Amino acid sequence: MAETAAGQPYEYRRRELVEPDWTRFPGWRDVTAAQWQSAQWQRVNCVKNVKQLRAVLGDLVDDTFYADLEADQQRLATMSMLIPPQMLNTMVPDAAPDTASFTADPIRNYMLPIASDRRRDWPSHPHSARDSLHEHDMWVAEGLTHRYPTKVLAELLSTCPQYCGHCTRMDLVGNSTPAVAKLKLVQKPADRYEAHLTYLKAHPGVRDVVVSGGDVANVPWRQLEAYLMGLLSVPTVRDIRLATKALMGLPQHWLQDDVVEGMHRVAVTAERRGVNLAVHTHVNHVNSLTPMVARAVRTLLEVGVRDVRNQGVLMRGVNATADDLLDLCFALQGEAGILPYYFYMCDMIPNAEHWRVPVWHAQQLQHDLMGYLPGYATPRIVCDVPFVGKRWVHMIADYDREHGISYWTKNYRTSLEAGDSEALTKLYAYYDPIDTLPESGQAWWRKQQAA
Ligand code: SF4
Repeated sequence: MAETAAGQPYEYRRRELVEPDWTRFPGWRDVTAAQWQSAQWQRVNCVKNVKQLRAVLGDLVDDTFYADLEADQQRLATMSMLIPPQMLNTMVPDAAPDTASFTADPIRNYMLPIASDRRRDWPSHPHSARDSLHEHDMWVAEGLTHRYPTKVLAELLSTCPQYCGHCTRMDLVGNSTPAVAKLKLVQKPADRYEAHLTYLKAHPGVRDVVVSGGDVANVPWRQLEAYLMGLLSVPTVRDIRLATKALMGLPQHWLQDDVVEGMHRVAVTAERRGVNLAVHTHVNHVNSLTPMVARAVRTLLEVGVRDVRNQGVLMRGVNATADDLLDLCFALQGEAGILPYYFYMCDMIPNAEHWRVPVWHAQQLQHDLMGYLPGYATPRIVCDVPFVGKRWVHMIADYDREHGISYWTKNYRTSLEAGDSEALTKLYAYYDPIDTLPESGQAWWRKQQAA
């Protein structure tokens, strides 16, 4: 990090949140505040294709950008396009964008990837995979992943109000793209949810349920409330975490009367039963935080949700500098009421190499973040190692920097390793992006690939 005038690598200055003026976009010149605050208006006016993006941006951005975006959608994208106006409005927030500023914008970078963003030499790592964390392999009921001994991940549905280019669940989430035919959930939601509850009742050692998707903001409220009340009726469930990026991407959803009233009922029930109810969101850049997001967070806390936490993803071109992460964390903690909890290294999915950072870079960032934020609000940077799970980035057992292979150990068995006597003693590999390796390492991978 370069030093500031105060002689420190990073200098904190309070910056209050600002809602960017949406009327700077030609397509939204006449949109009123009442429309903007309506969740329904936001959903109806999501941008789903290049034509709709043009209708909003008009000639601010030139044809080369739109062609680049179309090329990505047609050949490389693992996620289809879906951006609520709230999120689009946080791109180039201070001015009407032009092609250069829009292309360089960090939120554009991961929400509207263009073909020229991706690496030509190594678009995907040879060890990348559609379901890189093997969550589907560990389903114990449809959509219920049992990976850690005491915790499960419940995927209630496969849609979100917004689709992120780097989505780790690109195998299941969203519409199929020309590059990826998606896996489909086949059971009726009611049957799927019932099967989850049956599993939890039969496995009292599972105490923690991450309720996710997709994004729970797309589950019709009555269904979601019934599911949560079902979880709260299982006495062995002690932690419930709701995963919703929409808290940032579509905060209007979480401010609707029926949702607020329903969350209040769920929070009161959780409190009475001594269950920790929290909401986890996914913010990657400080520009995503606006007064509307802070209001939605405050409302959740007011109705009794115990905590709202952030799980961001570390990505080149978006936030992979200490300054970016500290700016984001101070705004989360100091302005939006969200605890900076984790930053994940971007998973090894196809066509994501331009976003991924090597482990040594993540370690350096963790080092550079220490000491600025309150200790409890200092995020951990974690690597989700295939077949292992989340590890802090300094927990490597060994590291071959030349070939970009880090080795990790684990201290529990997943459902896939019941009969594997070496599961707890062997080493598990994770791979750095090849373009970040020394030339000798890159040559080695080219040779492997050719063979
Ligand atoms: S909100 Fe989450 S699940 Fe949905 S596309 Fe983004 S990263 Fe994937």
